Amino acid sequence: MGQGVLAQPFVHRDGAFFCEDVPAEAVAIAAGTPTFVYSAAAIRSRYRALAQALDSCASRIHYSCKANGNRSILTLLRELGSGVDVVSGGELARALRAGFGPQDIVCGGVGKTARELREAIQAGIKLINVESLDEIVLLNEIARDLGMAAPVGLRVNPEVRIANAHAYIATGERGHKFGIPHESALGVARQALQMQHVQLVGLDMHVGSQLATLEPYRAGLARLAGLTGELRAAGAQIRYIDIGGGLPVAYNTGDPEPDLVGFGATVAPTVRDLGVELLVEPGRFFVGASGVLLTRVLYRKESGGKQYVIVDAGMNDLLRPSHYDAYHRIDAVRPTGMRVTADVVGPVCETGDFLALDREVDEVQAGDLMVVHGAGAYGYVMSSNYNARLRAAEVMVDGHRHAVVTARETYDDLMRLELEDPNWRDA
Ligand SMILES: *Cc1c(COP(=O)(O)O)cnc(C)c1O
Repeated sequence: MGQGVLAQPFVHRDGAFFCEDVPAEAVAIAAGTPTFVYSAAAIRSRYRALAQALDSCASRIHYSCKANGNRSILTLLRELGSGVDVVSGGELARALRAGFGPQDIVCGGVGKTARELREAIQAGIKLINVESLDEIVLLNEIARDLGMAAPVGLRVNPEVRIANAHAYIATGERGHKFGIPHESALGVARQALQMQHVQLVGLDMHVGSQLATLEPYRAGLARLAGLTGELRAAGAQIRYIDIGGGLPVAYNTGDPEPDLVGFGATVAPTVRDLGVELLVEPGRFFVGASGVLLTRVLYRKESGGKQYVIVDAGMNDLLRPSHYDAYHRIDAVRPTGMRVTADVVGPVCETGDFLALDREVDEVQAGDLMVVHGAGAYGYVMSSNYNARLRAAEVMVDGHRHAVVTARETYDDLMRLELEDPNWRDA
């Protein structure tokens, strides 16, 4: 990458593991384990590198906050100039509370409820990306009742195939649940143009996550460009082309960082030709490699000739290994130089509760700290209370400072919504 310098804040120094200038051990003492630890410098450098790569066309970055909705991350990105992409009423509420203005917000999602659509219209957000004709009809009715007009983007399924993606993160292939099929888009747009309370101002796609090449962007954008011409001929005033998220994270040693300069060069000419504003919605790319999960070894054991490292973080904290077969590097905070091949597993009562299987890792003992890399995206946001486990704390590091930004849950939090004395009523 030309402008190259993505901060690499997680390093071993003098035998111990650091996030920027903060030793992992200091975080463990201050916040306990398991704890997600985020680097402000890493997020900043990634935002700036992408913004620079896109500066040759009119563009706006809308961080996809489903990757990590942490308030301090939202604030940090907002202060850098980012907008936000939300996929639920809860994310919209979070974004507004974190100080994003309505014009900084776009929203998407295949199954928005009437309430979520109403909240988006009332907030006056920049763009509501819709995924079916039914949704546009409902949106038009709600906007009419509010006496408003809703700015609409059509999420089109560009039907591009993604090489080597896990089935759960490819989203833009023919027959997927997302978006309006490419061949129906013009017909749907014509109907939208007849409605009084929707304004068709954009086209949108999101071809998938963790995209290994730029080809899906090129192919998908070419399809949206073709449609833009047809929609304009039909009377639509298309101002935005939203190409979604999908820039990858280097999860494994030696994985390349995405070619941001190439990305800019791939999309900018089309965007300039069309005279639109390009919207991009990266999630994972900003935060994935900007966070680790800090965990403590509880026990070692051998079973059936196999070594186990049992740690205090499980699938309820980081679901990706179980759910997506995701690979996350794991290191000891203080490596001894000795190695062992082991399953690194959590405390949850499920055989599927693992962080790594048959992995050569640092030899560790009970009480040692380990870090799971690449845990900043789709980590905390996918965590749960399964097994009545308390959700982890989140810590932000900035230079030599660190702060708990989300407190670890308490037993009271677990039971806060339970009604001891339910109010039974006759039907
Ligand atoms: C999930 C999602 C994103 C972000 O995807 P990443 O792979 O994290 O960049 C962006 N846009 C939409 C519509 C999404 O559903």
